[in-house]
Amino acid sequence: MSVLVYVENAEGKFKKSIFEVVSYAKAIAKQMNTGLTAISIGDVASSELENLGKYGAEKVLNVGNDKLKSFVNQAYASVIAEAAKKESANVVVLSNSFSGKGLAPRIGVKLEAAVADGAIELPKTDGGKFIVKKTAFSNKAFAMVEMDSENKVISLTPNSYKVVEEGSAAKVEEFTSENKDSDFKVIIKEIVRATDKVSLPDAELVVSAGRGLKGPENWGMIEELANLLGAATACSKPVSDADWRPHSEHVGQTGIAISPNLYIAIGISGAIQHLAGVSSSKIIVVINKDPEAPFFKVADYGIVGDAFEVVPKMIEAVKAL
Ligand code: FAD
Repeated sequence: MSVLVYVENAEGKFKKSIFEVVSYAKAIAKQMNTGLTAISIGDVASSELENLGKYGAEKVLNVGNDKLKSFVNQAYASVIAEAAKKESANVVVLSNSFSGKGLAPRIGVKLEAAVADGAIELPKTDGGKFIVKKTAFSNKAFAMVEMDSENKVISLTPNSYKVVEEGSAAKVEEFTSENKDSDFKVIIKEIVRATDKVSLPDAELVVSAGRGLKGPENWGMIEELANLLGAATACSKPVSDADWRPHSEHVGQTGIAISPNLYIAIGISGAIQHLAGVSSSKIIVVINKDPEAPFFKVADYGIVGDAFEVVPKMIEAVKAL
């Protein structure tokens, strides 16, 4: 019995969401009174792998297979499931990231495991049973998932568990996988980064704007504020539908669901479909000229005012810090 955590890298580096997932997996391992092994696939420097020990991984399995340099859902799921079997790990933990969403069910099938995707808290344990809290219905409700099977796969929502530093360098071991040709039926030929800006799903701070901005020509101040804060930019659906902003920035029920530490909503009414993707943000700041705008009901801080006056003042205030 042990816990295996999959640590995905972004161009050879681990992001904060991975340290969260390792800390989370370590806490589960402690609940089970067992050890934690991490598995990394692709090109990552050994110092980066050893560093995972700081967050609780005692050992890191490094899969350096050339065929697995780019993410392939089926092949990565096979490798992780194979490692789980070899390590006698009956709990596999990973991030509920874009790739984690594809991997969790596939690993679940391979291990005949119960799957809880999008966990937001440590599981409650009851003998061999886990009860995992997750969000449901586009963040409008919580679900408690009872996991009764011997093997379990849990994916953690980014930004929902604290990074805990507690250990020293992890031991790194090479892991050779035995992928079948059928694992490579769909392969990614090339990944082109759309932007160099802070990635929205991982961002801790997000500056978002809606139709209240009147047109794409007014986004300069949104980008300036976001750059000053080190934040990602987001928008409401009508804004991306009108091509004022790229669809990759659209948040909400039909867009990306995010849970940053700070979400600043500028000129967005706060329709239920928008809130579905942002309401689990830790702090919500709303700027809207209509005091009756529904977004104020869920705001931690609200400014009733014209965005074209308030945002330039915020920019000056941040510059003065
Ligand atoms: P509006 O509703 O037009 O609101 C603009 C706001 O800006 C108003 O509150 C106004 O008071 C304020 N304002 C105007 N001028 C200023 C100013 N100068 N300064 C400050 N404030 C100002 N929407 C999403 O965002 N994401 C989704 O995923 C999504 N999915 C949907 C799925 C379905 C099935 C449906 C039916 C709808 C969906 N929508 C989604 C659309 C959603 O219902 C709303 O229409 C949309 O969120 C409204 O966008 P908005 O707030 O930018 O625009």
